Order: sequence, then C-alpha cells, then structure tokens
Amino acid sequence: MTDKRDYYQVLEVPRAASADDVRRAYRRLAREFHPDLNPSEGAEERFKEINEAYEVLSDDGRRASYDRFGHAAGSFPGGYAGNADPFGFGSAAGSPFADIFETFFGGAGTSRRPRMPTRGADIQVGLTIEFKEAIFGAEKDVAVRRLEVCESCDGSRMRDGQKPPVCSVCNGAGQVRRAQQTILGQFMTTTPCPSCGGEGVSITDPCPSCRGRGRVGQTRSITITVPAGIDDNSSLRLTGQGEASPDGGLSGNAYVRISVAAHPFFTRKDRSIFSQVRVNIAQATLGDELEVETIDGAVAFRLPEGTQSGQQFRLKGRGAPSIGGTGRGDQILTVQVVTPTKLTSEQRELFERIRESLGSDVPSVDSERGFFSRVKDALRF
Ligand SMILES: [Zn+2]
Ligand SMILES: [Zn+2]
Repeated sequence: MTDKRDYYQVLEVPRAASADDVRRAYRRLAREFHPDLNPSEGAEERFKEINEAYEVLSDDGRRASYDRFGHAAGSFPGGYAGNADPFGFGSAAGSPFADIFETFFGGAGTSRRPRMPTRGADIQVGLTIEFKEAIFGAEKDVAVRRLEVCESCDGSRMRDGQKPPVCSVCNGAGQVRRAQQTILGQFMTTTPCPSCGGEGVSITDPCPSCRGRGRVGQTRSITITVPAGIDDNSSLRLTGQGEASPDGGLSGNAYVRISVAAHPFFTRKDRSIFSQVRVNIAQATLGDELEVETIDGAVAFRLPEGTQSGQQFRLKGRGAPSIGGTGRGDQILTVQVVTPTKLTSEQRELFERIRESLGSDVPSVDSERGFFSRVKDALRF
C-alpha cells in the first residue's frame, strides 16, 4: 500500500477538484489508457490505477476518508471499503465468505465502477461479386445501415448540443449508496442511479433530431476494395465502419460477407480454376490446336494426340491469386471426348472403314495408368 501513488496525482487533478473535474479527468484518462485502445506497455496497470483512484475520489464519503487517512483508509472496514477486503482474504474468490461477498460486494463491485465508454456494435452486410471480380479484385459500393452520432446534437442528446445537466439524484456519480444491515454488520453498497440509469446526467431537453438518443440511423454507401483472390464466403472487416458508440467510445466494425456468383463454365477451389473442353473423337485421336477459355480470355491450347476423355491438363498461371500473395494458381482443363451421334453417310462410311481396320482391338492404357491420375502440363506453342 505504501508505494501506491496519490489518487489525485493518478487522476492529474488538484485536491480541490470538483466532482465534475474528477469525472472529466477520469473519462479522459480511462479512454487514453484503456487496454483495448492503448496497446503500450503499462497501459493496463495505469488503467487499473485510474479506476481505483476514481472509485475512491468519485464517492464523497470515501473521498473524505481518503483525504483524512490517505491509503490507510482502505485498510479498515467503514473506511472507504473500496477494495472490499475487510477480512484480509486478498480476494473474495475462494474464501469461505465467497457467497456473502458475491451478495454484498460482487454485483456492486462491478456496478460500482463507473461506466466505461462502450464500443459501438459491429454490423454485417452481404455483397455478391462476379467470379472474375473475385479473381482480379474490384472496387465495390456497399450500402450500410447503421447508427451514427446525431449531427444536430453531436451526440450530447440535448437540443442544439447543449451539455446535459448533472443528474440531481446521484450528483453525476451515476450510482447511489445504500446502507445494508447484514449478519456481518453494516455495509454500504452502491447501485446504479435509478434516475439516470447510471449515466450521471439528465436529458432535460432532448434533441429533436435523435429524440434524445444521441444516435440516428443512417444508410451510407461505402466504397470498398475487394482484394484479388478473395474466396466465396470470406469476410472483409471495415474497421470503425460499424455503429457509433452510444457514449463517445470507438465505433464498431462492419463485416462484409462476400458471396461469389457462379460462373457459367468456370469453377474454383482455392487457387485452382476448373473448366472443361469438349472435343470430338477425331480431335482426341489425332490431336488438334484449340482455343480454350481462361479467365484472362481465350488462349491457344495444343491437344496432344491420343487424348483420353477425362484427361486433365494444367494451364499454368491461369488460376486465382492468393490474397496478398504473389503469382497465381493454375487452370485445370478437363477434356471431354464427345462421341458423334449424327453422322452423314460419308462420315458413316469412314467410321466403318476405321472399325474394319481396328476390329475389336481396344488400345490398352494400363501401362499408362498414371496418365489419368496426374494432371499433365499443357504444352506451350
Ligand atoms: Zn441529437
Ligand atoms: Zn443519477
């Protein structure tokens, strides 16, 4: 206890500071050192120290005790009882009086703390993009419906942005003290002020635009950059684009859930794009020079002779990029050999001659079993 800093120093206020000054100093410092907002080392310790100081200095009775006895006031019951440790258990948890502490200090222990600014809520919006946009990225506008700080009152909730007066019931503390008789003696408990709901201010002349809420619903169009390579069902976080805080804290985030529309002939898995190419039996047998569709447009593809139906070829670098990565995946082209169903008499004659020549001979592909199980790289011209 002896190395504790003076509470007035902690809150950076003079000893004569008014309750309002203390409250303002607390709000400013708590926001500055809140561990969620301030990642620097020591911020959390500092934040605890600020809260402890405020717990005492925001309460007239405890502040008076502290002024007279200093930190020693906290070490006896009926002093400022701030850390609620009159039995010396260090922590209520695990002590034989845990239940009792729960009853008399537990709830109060948390509600006694002045409200910290609340972060605004996160919001979710959906966005459907084209297959090609997912590969190459795009700029898209999304409509976001959210609560924003009211412009008429700047969030003060009062007409013309007046400062709301301090709650007369709790004097701005946001909480009221009550004496409770228990088997362990009398305890002072604090509960949120029933008049102001713990906010410490009264909205006596509500802003007509937001009806005293401080926030209003707005629909905004936000332009977002969809990164190249984004996959179906991924989410983009737009930091701070969610709802405004109700009490001056940080805004929430907006999460944009991306749906990628189906493409008429491409499918995708991770960085690979899949497509099919249909060829006739003569092309498959003799090979051919084809044009095949890729996401970049048509490219030349040399179908090798003796291609089997279902055989796959890899078009290097025609797939999707990985987000923030370099290079692209491949396109996997599956060849489908289509048997003719309508023949001219000339074609029929030719097929009959082939049948005569081949007889019932079915070419063996067993020696090339591996042929089917791996994707062959397409030959470049
Ligand atoms: Zn307003
Ligand atoms: Zn009040």
